[in-house]
Amino acid sequence: MQKKTSRLNPSGRFAPSPSGLLHFGSLVTAMASYLDVKSEGGFWWLRIEDIDNQRSQKDITTMIKAQLKDHGMKWDKWPELPKENDGIIFQSQRGKIYSQFLHSIISSDRAFSCKCTRKIILKNSKKDDCLKSGEIRYPGTCKKNKYDQITQGRAIRLISSNIDDFVLKRINNNTFSYALAVVIDDYSQNITNIIRGDDLKFTIERNIQLQSFFGFPLPKILHVPVVKDFNGNKLSKQKNEGVLKGGKHIKNQITKSWNYLQENMPIKWLEKVADTFDKNF
Ligand code: GLU
Repeated sequence: MQKKTSRLNPSGRFAPSPSGLLHFGSLVTAMASYLDVKSEGGFWWLRIEDIDNQRSQKDITTMIKAQLKDHGMKWDKWPELPKENDGIIFQSQRGKIYSQFLHSIISSDRAFSCKCTRKIILKNSKKDDCLKSGEIRYPGTCKKNKYDQITQGRAIRLISSNIDDFVLKRINNNTFSYALAVVIDDYSQNITNIIRGDDLKFTIERNIQLQSFFGFPLPKILHVPVVKDFNGNKLSKQKNEGVLKGGKHIKNQITKSWNYLQENMPIKWLEKVADTFDKNF
């Protein structure tokens, strides 16, 4: 992907996975990111994270686009894409690029082939060795195996210096990991300002390891507290929870999302977007 924007242009992105329609929590995150870059005169890109091919659905993307437009958020069109992309980057079309970057890790001897099933990982782990995400820390079982193209195993993992040896690619379903794809995409799109849900906060250390390995600049990252239901659970796209409504509900949903941001975001950040609140809608 060619770099089309200068590093001086603030660039943000909204990167939903098309596993379900946008809910109120997605609106809050999209709105925060949109207001953030638009208040600085920057670009706001839309990236569909359909890398997880089992859960992604094509029609959902069309509906997500309509939901964003209905709520006043138009994405900037990424140049030089086929017309049908509508200026949107789809991760499912970027396998070749991810492969190239993955191979640079492999050729630096920073990856290994892992044969472990979930069951084996659980069996070999120390009981309480959980990561912030709640995942079990990889116990290092296959770390001594060099990356081997012939007997690749189930996954390719990064040899990590201080955190767990996380997955770069799953071989059994031929899927690149979010950890790998997101840093490559953010770099390729010159993203300077990332705003995302705080359920992804735990991935920062992984992001930084890969960004440092590739020599990518570090974007600014702000995390929005995820919206929860009355029982304190995160809204789920897959379960169609809190899906945004259309028509007469739109205005109210926009106002509610601003109120949520005003209650939950740092004052300094809100001052920055205060004008945009009134100007854009
Ligand atoms: N694809 C993720 C989601 O739908 C967002 C990832 C990101 O913003 O980095 O929750």
